Amino acid sequence: MRPKIVYTAVFIVVISLCGMLFCFSCSKKSSTVQTENNTQNRKSSSHLSAEVYPPEVGRASAKAEPNQPDPNGQTGWNHPRSDERLSDRKEMVQTLCTLYEFANQPVLDAMLNVPRHWFVPPGVQAMAYEDTPLPIGHGQTISQPFIVAYMTALLELTPAMKVLEIGTGSGYQAAILSEFTPHVYTIEILEPLAKRAQEQLSNRGYDTIKVRIGDGYKGWPQFAPFDAIIVTCAPDHIPQPLLDQLSPGGRIVIPVGRAGYVQDLLLVTKKADGSLEKKSMMPVRFVPLLREKN
Ligand code: SAH
Repeated sequence: MRPKIVYTAVFIVVISLCGMLFCFSCSKKSSTVQTENNTQNRKSSSHLSAEVYPPEVGRASAKAEPNQPDPNGQTGWNHPRSDERLSDRKEMVQTLCTLYEFANQPVLDAMLNVPRHWFVPPGVQAMAYEDTPLPIGHGQTISQPFIVAYMTALLELTPAMKVLEIGTGSGYQAAILSEFTPHVYTIEILEPLAKRAQEQLSNRGYDTIKVRIGDGYKGWPQFAPFDAIIVTCAPDHIPQPLLDQLSPGGRIVIPVGRAGYVQDLLLVTKKADGSLEKKSMMPVRFVPLLREKN
């Protein structure tokens, strides 16, 4: 009698364990599906302004995965990819999510996919993924990663949009922009920086970005109008040529204020009737916009 009871008890325990294992694998699968759906939903959301810092939405977790094709699912132009210092990039993205509660998934993907260390000088390689601006020579700096992400999100780029950057610097911001659209135009006033950025971008395979040496105050009339303009140096007023070269419905993200002081990061939208809507986004500190002497 006793062995029979023992066998029955063992049998019941084994059956229950199998049952538990089966349920565990089911629930794991369904939670994966749920996560993918959520990611998909975030990706398909085209209106980004509610998702940038300071956020109305909750804290984001770093959902970005390495070597994603491209944020908009387009394959029509080159998106250079590398696993170099991937764990550093993951940490940088994690900081954007946790410290700033930055939740714009396509921009997080772009920040994960573009190696920042490709664009910083040898002397500051070790700090390439710190959340800080870094010197790039000639008294200029590559912007802090959070500012790059924040300004990119404000542009609400899609692959059909033509975007102009004023202040190429290292070329990093231009590379981030080219994750979203093949129509990236960038102007740098300092010749050595423009040449180095151009060389770096083409060596790394960013082959659709057009770099020009010149005074970005005047814009790039030959390729105007632009759907988006990002200015990464600070003028004391919004340059009229940039407003003139903006498409109806287009937006400019620009720090405006006195050199050496805190400036106001403005989001300027040109409405269909040509009128402008200005929104102050946050205090920032950029290097000044320089003017060509002639
Ligand atoms: N976006 C850059 C960082 C820019 S720092 C990056 O990702 O690395 C600002 C840059 O603006 C500097 O390189 C500076 O030389 C440039 N700049 C300043 N005045 C300018 C002007 N009038 N036209 C174009 N570039 C200008």
